[in-house]
This record gives sequence, structure tokens and C-alpha cells, in this order.
Amino acid sequence: MLGLGLQAPWKLIDQSLNTEHSPYELQLQVGTERGELYSCPECGAPCSAHDFKEKTWRHLNFFQHHCYITAKIPRVHCKTHGVRLIEVPWARPGSGFTLLFEEVALTLVREMPVNAAAKFMEVTDKRLWRVVEHYVEQALSRLDLSSLQAFGFDETASKRGHNYVTVFIDMARKTLPVVFAIPGKGKQTVSEFKTFIEKHGAKPEQVLEVVCDMSPSFLSGVKDEFPKANVTVDWFHVVQLFTRAVDEVRKEERKHSDMPKALRWAVLKNAESPMTDKQAQALLDLEQYELETAKAWRVKEKLRWIREAKTIQAARWRLTNFIKFTLDEIGSSDALEPVRKALATLEKHSERILQRWSSTYTNARMEGLNSLFQAARSRARGYRNTATFITMIYMIASPAAEILKST
Ligand SMILES: [Zn+2]
Repeated sequence: MLGLGLQAPWKLIDQSLNTEHSPYELQLQVGTERGELYSCPECGAPCSAHDFKEKTWRHLNFFQHHCYITAKIPRVHCKTHGVRLIEVPWARPGSGFTLLFEEVALTLVREMPVNAAAKFMEVTDKRLWRVVEHYVEQALSRLDLSSLQAFGFDETASKRGHNYVTVFIDMARKTLPVVFAIPGKGKQTVSEFKTFIEKHGAKPEQVLEVVCDMSPSFLSGVKDEFPKANVTVDWFHVVQLFTRAVDEVRKEERKHSDMPKALRWAVLKNAESPMTDKQAQALLDLEQYELETAKAWRVKEKLRWIREAKTIQAARWRLTNFIKFTLDEIGSSDALEPVRKALATLEKHSERILQRWSSTYTNARMEGLNSLFQAARSRARGYRNTATFITMIYMIASPAAEILKST
């Protein structure tokens, strides 16, 4: 009957269409025979009913009508466990929806933003989020990290500029790599990750490699909590460091020089990514006029030459050469101070940066985190806070996504 999975002793005892509501409500009354025995939810012992408690669940729409199931649920009196509400086969304990309703909801949430799915199913997005959160949590509680050897992590903001979230990925997982996400940023998140992996079958000493950015609080967290791990600074963050420096130089220089508008976007891209004609022209102009921004940009573009090195020896040589080249470009220019700072950070972390040439893991996945964050932000729109943002990250990119498919 309507996908409810009713089995003895449960049966449909009444149905009616309530036309006083819009849309109409199909009301199904489900019940049991008198004198039945029910299993104790704790130990399964057959018990008689102590009393009954009426509950209502939202079920899948019946054509255009909302559908509700109502049943008087027995509370059994078990000799060992006392008075307990029994479980029903069509809903999980504590939910106001039937299992089938939740299953359809999860299918939709995989494909569309939660607020769109909520509109489609005619429930509030707040209630739908609660369902999603339950299944994600359940799926993650079964996560086995006993073979974890390397992880990467990065922070992002759920909204522009605030509400930070730090996301951890298992570097060995080719797909669905996210294993942990937590509000906040910095050292504390690293200790929380350690506690988390210990609950999931891993020991901190088994972690041999950590991939992250150059933030001092991240690095000190890793040193304290994962003493055996080698730290690799991923290349994405090196490029990001210099891209920001170029942009700072540009912003300052713009105040007293005439610069084409398209330049802003052009300098944020690298020379190989597709550009509009205007952006390409802006870069050509940049070269011609010998602006400070042009020098900063040339420095940033030269990073690629280091990255293309085939061996760690070659990379080391190129890095040294890059530092010389950059110092020459900067000279004593005040305007290029942001580049000077970026260079100092690069020098300080050069060993960790070079580590990538001996690492077994590609950092394409760290770079992929950025598009994941964007997707999660957009799918959590409408009702976005740190919790929903984290749930969506799990839905898209953690093993929970796999387990959800089989519920
Ligand atoms: Zn019992």
C-alpha cells in the first residue's frame, strides 16, 4: 500500500480526504488488532501494550494531495527495559516523515539545492535539512579511517569573509575524499581532526604526510598532533600567495596610474587560462608601460617554470634561481613590497614546498577543494549557515554521498 511497507500486525484501518485544507490532505489511519504482542525495541522480547501514543507522519504526496499517516503506537512494558515506545516499519524513530518520503527527499537533494527540493516536496527547507543531516551523520559514523596515511586540509568561509570552516581530505581517496569538516580555522581544528580519526580506527602516528597551506597556526597544529608527518605545502597555495601580492600591487598602483579595467581579471588569471580579448590587450599594455604591476605579474608567471621541473633537484635549482630573479625585479621598489613579503614566505617554506616533488600524492585534489566549496555554497543557498554548509560538503564530496545512494 503506497510504499509504506505495512506488514502484520499493522494494517490500514481508515482513510479519508480532508478537503478543508489546501491542498487536500489524504489521511490514512494505520493500526493493529487488540491483544497483539509487540517486540521490545531494546531486546526484542514479546510484550503486551502498556498504552498507546498517537503519532502522525508526512508521506509522499498522493497525486496533488498531501498525505499523512496517523497511528496509535503501542508503548510496551518490558520486564527488563520498562515502558518503551516500539519502532514502526515505515519511519525511523523521531522522524515526522515516512522512510519513503525521506528516500525521495535525499534523491532530490543530491541533484538540486535543498531549498528547491523542499519547494518540490512542499515542506520547509529547515525540516528537510534536518533529514539530510541525520543521514549524513549516520553515514559518517560508519567511516573507517584505519588505513589513513596522508591527509590534506584547507579552510574556507561559508559566507564571504566570515564563518570559517576547515575541511580535511584523505589524500589516498580518488573520489569523495572529504572525511571531516568542522567550523573554525587554525590549530584547534587540527586537534579536533586528531580526535575524530582516533574514533574512526586511526592513530595519529600512522599519518606520514600532511598537505596544507603556509598558515603558521595550521603548521604548528600539525607539528603538535601529527609528529611523524612530513608537511607538504601544496602548489595551489604558492600560486595563491603570489596572485594576492600581484593584486595588492595593482590596487595601490591604480591610485596614481591609468590602468585598463580588464587588468583586474587578467592579473588574477595565469597566462595559459582563457582570456577575453580585452584582458589579453590589458596584459600587453601592462608590459609596454613598465608598470610595477607588470613586474609583479611576471614574477607570479615565472612560478610555473618551477612547477614544471621534473625532479626535486631541478626544482630546487629553479627555486633558487626564481628567488634571485624576483629580488632583481623588485629592486628597492616600495610599490613591490607585497611581492617582497610573498617571496619571504616562500623562502621560509621552501623545503615544504619542494616536498611535493617527493610526495606520492597529487595536489590536484587540493585545488579541487575550491570548486567543491563553491558548489556546496550554491547548493546550501537559501538556508545557509555553517552547519548546512558542512552538511552539503559531506553530501557532495565525502563517502557519505556513496552510502546515501544505497539507503
Ligand atoms: Zn526489553
